Amino acid sequence: MRVLIAEDEKKIADFIKRGLKEEGYAADTVHNGNEALVLAEENPYDLLLLDVMLPGLDGVTVCSRLRASGFTAPILMLTAKDRVEDKVKGLDAGANDYLTKPFAFEELLARIRALLRTKPAEAAALLTAGDIELDLPAHKARLAGKALDLSAKEFSLLEYLVRNKGKTVTRTMIAEHVWDINFDTGTNVIDVYINYLRRKLEKSPAKKIIHTVRGKGYLLKS
Ligand code: CA
Repeated sequence: MRVLIAEDEKKIADFIKRGLKEEGYAADTVHNGNEALVLAEENPYDLLLLDVMLPGLDGVTVCSRLRASGFTAPILMLTAKDRVEDKVKGLDAGANDYLTKPFAFEELLARIRALLRTKPAEAAALLTAGDIELDLPAHKARLAGKALDLSAKEFSLLEYLVRNKGKTVTRTMIAEHVWDINFDTGTNVIDVYINYLRRKLEKSPAKKIIHTVRGKGYLLKS
């Protein structure tokens, strides 16, 4: 899942980005409202983390402009503690939720997970596909009940495949949702990571889970 962080306090933006990366999210940062608007319109982000007090366009304006232009991903606003009117304005402008600064990183993660859960079936924060089970809050993967040892990036890639099980996902889609904006599309990094996952998931050659769709991308079949 790729998140855009719009926060002008660079220390906070870097702290959030680092934390999200450790959890396997891809994250890009911008430090003013205009950049936030441009990047969010040009890239298929899964979630926007939007500070209200931003130079250039403020967060509420960015939020309402994005909604007006058809941006559908969840928007989580960051507001200052004593600014009740910001929360109201943000929600009225189309934000899905808000978080008051300062916040505990754990709470930010929990709210992001909640906003990314679009289907009721995912309410338990457990994603499954066949024998694969992903515990999102704990960041643990299991195959037929046995723990899988995955890196944060491998977990994130598997999560994306499981969320799209039964559908072909292209390398572009994977790059856009699992890697950040600096991803070099000229490399074979995605194929390398797919192979890492295959090695861990497909213990016998007969049990193919991640299928290659020639000329298109990959397909996880459960
Ligand atoms: Ca700010």
